Amino acid sequence: LSPVPSDIEISRSQTPKAIDQLAQEIGLLPEELEAYGRTKAKVRLSLLDRLKEQPDGKYVLVAGITPTPLGEGKSTVTIGLVQALSAHLKLNSVACLRQPSQGPTFGVKGGAAGGGYAQVIPMEEFNLHLTGDIHAITAANNLVAAAIDARILHESTQSDKALYNRLVPSVNGMRRFSPIQLARLHRLGISKSDPGALTPEEAKTFVRLDLDPEKVTWQRVIDTNDRFLRKITVGQANTEKGHSRQTQFDIAVASEIMAILALSDGLADMKQRLGRMVVGSSRSGQPVTADDLGVTGALAVLMKDAIKPTLMQTLEGTPVFVHAGPFANIAHGNSSVLADKLALKLVGEDGYVVTEAGFGADIGMEKFFNIKCRASGLKPNVVVLVATVRALKMHGGGPNNLKLVADGCSNLKKQIQIAHLFGVPVVVALNVFQTDTQAEIDLVCRIAEKTGATAAVPCHHWSRGGRGSVDLAHAVKEAARQKNNFQFLYDLQMPIHEKIRTIAQKVYGAEDIDLSPEAQAKIEYYTQQGYNTLPICMAKTHLSLSHMPEKKGVPTGFVLPIRDVRASIGAGFIYPLVGSMSTMPGLPTRPCFYDIDLDPVTEEITGLF
Ligand code: ADP
Repeated sequence: LSPVPSDIEISRSQTPKAIDQLAQEIGLLPEELEAYGRTKAKVRLSLLDRLKEQPDGKYVLVAGITPTPLGEGKSTVTIGLVQALSAHLKLNSVACLRQPSQGPTFGVKGGAAGGGYAQVIPMEEFNLHLTGDIHAITAANNLVAAAIDARILHESTQSDKALYNRLVPSVNGMRRFSPIQLARLHRLGISKSDPGALTPEEAKTFVRLDLDPEKVTWQRVIDTNDRFLRKITVGQANTEKGHSRQTQFDIAVASEIMAILALSDGLADMKQRLGRMVVGSSRSGQPVTADDLGVTGALAVLMKDAIKPTLMQTLEGTPVFVHAGPFANIAHGNSSVLADKLALKLVGEDGYVVTEAGFGADIGMEKFFNIKCRASGLKPNVVVLVATVRALKMHGGGPNNLKLVADGCSNLKKQIQIAHLFGVPVVVALNVFQTDTQAEIDLVCRIAEKTGATAAVPCHHWSRGGRGSVDLAHAVKEAARQKNNFQFLYDLQMPIHEKIRTIAQKVYGAEDIDLSPEAQAKIEYYTQQGYNTLPICMAKTHLSLSHMPEKKGVPTGFVLPIRDVRASIGAGFIYPLVGSMSTMPGLPTRPCFYDIDLDPVTEEITGLF
């Protein structure tokens, strides 16, 4: 239709097919499906085992140029592309998307179900609770937080003996260590399995985590943009005996547990990662983990359903996996390894899996290759790089003429070159807005092809659905046939600061890095602890290739300041902080929720986008 109706009107005008029908169409067995209502279902991981002999399909990553704060249409391109591949080229294909946080849905940016005629439906289900994974993450994360503060309190008020008696209770006159306690003893180098055999000194080492309240790094989370939780004091009731301390809430998708969900390759792996999470350090400087707190099994129980990807559909009835959604600023911002793996098996050798990475290629794509592909062992075949004339004009420095678009293409060229560092062919998808002129479209495509993109195609999926992305689908098919020299950017054995420098210089174009004394000290500490062979997850603004959001195009001549370095040991990465990165967004004066409403008679939702 022209003009194109609102996203929610388009979504509602299409009746989704029953999810068990879609599941059957794509070859799932009834026992592999757990339906959540009529239009969503979780897919059991046993599917991976059933299809283990099946060759993988082609693996396509959708990334973008440095975006405007509004987003340049990576989700819509992803959906438009699978609609074109499945419904128009008749090739098996699955889109893998992240579950959106309710922070942006009710805050500024809105949902993430795509837009126009390239959407996941029903979009209100996609954008709201979905199948409860984010709630499960919140519950698991906050159980760890509660365990930390309670443990500090109990250790401070009880003798070694009382702690020992409570932690290793006598049942029917017998004391026994639980498996998680035996593992802790093993880590401490105490090779005794009989609780009666520990010396008082060993028993003390065993029961006292001696967490330093000043060095607790674990925060509580909630999936709401609630800026007043950025700094809080806990433990003010008399019952907590003066154990109050300052801490903070992060947005739920910034939880390390979300990053773990996205990187795990099965329940056993997820459980191990959950156990390895470092929550703080002891007064003597030893890392304290979720395993030390004894909470790992309970976390796995809370997360057992979240680990299964959720199946939904596009407007044209083609399959979509929605799974995980780690915060792209401090975590790696990609959907899950498991969803990609299941999808690659399902589509088979001639099929396509299109997965999306957050923000520009300098962030989402770099982390996709260096972190996600390392964790999964998967090799991508093609990068689709999304650009818009609107963002290119911003990089060129102003609103409207061809010269500005040409100048702004510096950013597009640089992002193409970044993808080439990893040896993967690039197709540029120019997401066309109705205000773009033909001259602007031709210019961008010409420059992209001259820079070495395999193809550069205008895409009209937003206004026309899959048929508006048929050219892109053909170009991706062609590029997937090309020789692919995929490689990582750095060797994991390099020292931490060298890995950071490599990303800063080769990807961002920095002259060098400048480590603060705090960052330097953390690097030494992590190296001592043996965490130096982990990949790097840079926490940097997405609004510029540099650390300065106002520097558009391709900034040069800058030194990248590394303020601090932190570690997500369970997720498996070190994250240097470049500038200040908020982990709890706030609400603007007029948030999206002003327009969101429910008709109590029809139960129709309005105002979501
Ligand atoms: P990203 O994934 O890059 O953040 P999205 O795909 O979510 O971006 O798109 C951001 C917003 O822009 C969405 O509300 C979407 O509906 C809108 N949008 C995307 N492409 C177009 C287009 N070609 N014309 C008009 N609006 C668009």
